[in-house]
Formats: sequence, structure tokens, C-alpha cells
Amino acid sequence: MNIPKSSFPRIVIVGGGFGGVALAKELSGKEVQVVLLDKNNYHTFQPLLYQVSTGGLEPDSIAYPIRKILQDYPNFYFRMAELQQVLRDSKQVVTNIGKLSYDYLVIAMGSETNFFGNVEIEMNGMAMKSIPQSLNLRSMILENFEQALLTDNLHERDALMNFVIVGGGPTGVELAGALAEIKKGILPKDYPDLDTRRVQINLVQSGDRILKAMSEKASKKAEDFLESLGVQIWKNTRVTGYDGKKVTTKTDLVFEAATLVWAAGVKGVSVKGLDAGDLLVPGNRIKVNDFNQVIGDPYIYAIGDIACMQREGTPQGHPMMAQPAIQQGRHLGKNLVRLFEDREMLPFEYKDKGSMATVGRNKAVVDLKKYKFQGVFAWFVWMFVHLFFLIGFRNRMVVFINWVYNYIRFDREARLIIRPYQRDYSKFNEPRIPKGTEPNG
Ligand SMILES: Cc1cc2nc3c(=O)[nH]c(=O)nc-3n(C[C@H](O)[C@H](O)[C@H](O)COP(=O)(O)OP(=O)(O)OC[C@H]3O[C@@H](n4cnc5c(N)ncnc54)[C@H](O)[C@@H]3O)c2cc1C
Repeated sequence: MNIPKSSFPRIVIVGGGFGGVALAKELSGKEVQVVLLDKNNYHTFQPLLYQVSTGGLEPDSIAYPIRKILQDYPNFYFRMAELQQVLRDSKQVVTNIGKLSYDYLVIAMGSETNFFGNVEIEMNGMAMKSIPQSLNLRSMILENFEQALLTDNLHERDALMNFVIVGGGPTGVELAGALAEIKKGILPKDYPDLDTRRVQINLVQSGDRILKAMSEKASKKAEDFLESLGVQIWKNTRVTGYDGKKVTTKTDLVFEAATLVWAAGVKGVSVKGLDAGDLLVPGNRIKVNDFNQVIGDPYIYAIGDIACMQREGTPQGHPMMAQPAIQQGRHLGKNLVRLFEDREMLPFEYKDKGSMATVGRNKAVVDLKKYKFQGVFAWFVWMFVHLFFLIGFRNRMVVFINWVYNYIRFDREARLIIRPYQRDYSKFNEPRIPKGTEPNG
């Protein structure tokens, strides 16, 4: 990889997401050599992916070049590389561009969509975990409307305009809200010759309330907001299959729909070499101690979504959200410096800053530690927080201007089919429907 040897310890960070970038920043200017590897050359601001999927923002306003984030930091190297394996005995990582040795390794590779083993849904449903996936979804939504215009078959037309979103967490709720806004404000103008009143947005949730990680009040209010926008919410309903046309559930309920978005769960990314059963918890997250150290290996750490710090108060680990990743990245940076200075490391303490979700124009729910509020003010708070955490002045300006424009004009101008969507079945050897698999919708 052409990384020069240095007298400083080499810390290899895999993953330039929220955790990896926070760690690299914390280590800037310290007596260490930092090598950051990521399979992409950009950082993705995942909380706004749904706006890319629904034409509200261009993808480059929520992505940022990793090299630019860290270009002024001394002793810092970036390589665009995909991790394939960790060789613990020789303290090396194997990637698609070669091997690299480390003194300390930090795994910050985040999570991926969890289809809970349901291959049929994975094959035919849409995930929204990366920019390419969001662009696929954007193309597919728009292509469905183009096709709906062409068919004379009412049944088929309804299916093309029927959206099923599985998972009532923030991602599902925000996507449902954005689609409902499009139905109201944009589709009637773009497709005057289509009866867009027939567009259906179904949000399916296996539990008895949406936004179950937030307060009851936030759940209730979000539900009211969505219903006022015409979204149909199906609670206590578990999706069991989707063949590309028909969504089946554990009950008699069936949806005929050309689009199913799976937002019902994530799991830690698999890391060969760190995948022994005793290192993982259900959900494929790597067990770490109070210092984010991988159990039993003093040279490997894990932070963010992929790490699970199980202890009293957090038996399932910290929430798979941006704040724990950022805080763990910063904290580990400080701890590594302490380690090199022969000082004791300090245990990680998570400061919960609350959570929020937007449901559409002027509608959001916010749960802070002391205050919980909903409505227009919450929506402004949501926008401010998301702008604040976006990386890069240009991105903040572009997103801000887009939001103001969209607000004033009731518009979303990025509704472009740049790259028509084509299903890629190549990673599935043969179509198959596993028996008895029950995803957690
Ligand atoms: C649609 C959506 C909406 C969300 N909304 C919110 C929200 O509103 N608020 C909130 O707090 N959180 C939200 N989250 C969750 C939040 O984005 C994650 O918790 C956070 O990104 C985790 O940070 P991380 O550093 O652990 O991983 P990530 O930010 O996911 O970064 C992981 C990095 O690792 C890289 N990588 C993965 N595999 C490899 C490999 N093999 N080799 C090299 N590099 C690799 C990836 O390219 C990526 O850059 C949302 C997530 C999604 C998908």
C-alpha cells in the first residue's frame, strides 16, 4: 500500500463513517501514524439518505470526500480499500489492494441491512443503507410512475403506485412521510393524466407502536402526523415474504406492490478473522469491553454500530446511531493517547443527547433528556441539528438552500432517473425462498 514506516505506532482504522472519522480527527497531531481504509472514498451522512431516495437532495450534498476531511492532518494516510480479513496472529489486515500491518487496529465498519435470513425479501425488496441503494430506490420509484402511465391494467397500475415500507423506526417513518409529501405536492403536477389519489403508502410494523425507541408521546404524535398525510400504518403485522409483486404477512393481509422498502433492521458488518462465535452477540456485533477493546485482543478495538459494549444499563449495547459512534471514536482517540503515555485508559460513558425524527413538512418529534416536543418547532430543531452535523461548509449550504427552496416551492427537483434501476440477482445463485424464516418487520 506504499505507506512509509514510521517511528510512531501505526493505528489502522477501517471505516470512514461517523466513528472512524471522529477517531481520526481526535488522533490528529498526536505521535501516531494513522491509516484510514474505506471501500468508498467518501463519508456518507446516512440520516439524510431518505431525502436522496425521494428526490429532495442530490447525493453529493450528503457525501463528503474522506481525503478532504483529513487533508490537513499530519501523519495521516487514506487508502480506498475493502477489508477482506484480519490476520490476528501476524497483526495484518488483508484488503482488495493488498496487506497492511498494524500496531493497533480499529474496526469502524458500521452495519448493513438485516433481512433476518429471508432471501426472497433480500432479492426483491429495496434497502436504503448507502448512496447507490438510495439512488436505486429513487430511480425505481420514478420508473414505476412512468410505467403506471403506460399500462391499461388498473390492477397493475395500482401495484406500481403501492409502496410498502417495512419497519416503523426513524428510517421507515421518515421515508413514509417524504413519500406522502410527494404524493400530495408533486405527483399531481408531474402526472396530471394519472390518478395519483390511488397512490398508497403503507408502513408496516411488527410491534404495537412506531418509533418504539422514542417516548410514547413521540410515537403517538408521529402516527397522527403520518395518518394526516394519508399513510396507512399497520401495527402488529409481520411481513413474511415478497416475490416482487405480492407482500405476504403473518396474517391474511396481503399487499400487491411493486415496491417494498426494507427498513426493519440492521446487523454488524461481517469481519473475517473476527467472526468467531464467542466474539459476537446476536445481530453480528463485536463484543467490546469498557474501552472498546475487542474481548481477548489488546491490539484490536471496535467502535460504532459494529461494536457492542454490554454492561449494566446497556445489555444490548449502545443504540446503533451516529452519536454513540462519534462519542466512541473521540473517546478511543483519547484512550489510545493515554495508552501510549502509559496512563490508564478510562471507561467509555455514553451521553445520550436524545433522538428525533421528521415526518414531513413542519412535522417532527424530538425527545431530549428533559424536554419532549413535537410539531413545527421540533421540525426546525431537526433541521438545525442535521445541518450542524453534516460535514463540510458546501454541503451545509447546499442542503440549506435546497430545503428553503423545497419549502417555498413545495418541490423536490432531484427527481431524476439518471441510472435506471435494474435488479441484480447475480449475488444469489438461484432464486429460493427459505422455509420458516420470519423477519422482524
Ligand atoms: C437510512 C438511515 C437513517 C439513519 N438515521 C439516523 C438518524 O437520524 N440519527 C442517528 O443518530 N443515526 C441514524 N442512522 C444510523 C447512523 O447512520 C449509524 O448509526 C452510523 O452511521 C454508525 O456509524 P459507524 O461509524 O459505526 O458506521 P458508518 O457511518 O456506517 O461507517 C462505516 C464505514 O465503513 C465502511 N466499510 C464498511 N465495510 C467496509 C469494508 N469491508 N472495508 C472498508 N470499509 C468498509 C463504509 O464504507 C462506511 O464508510 C441512520 C442510518 C440509516 C441507514
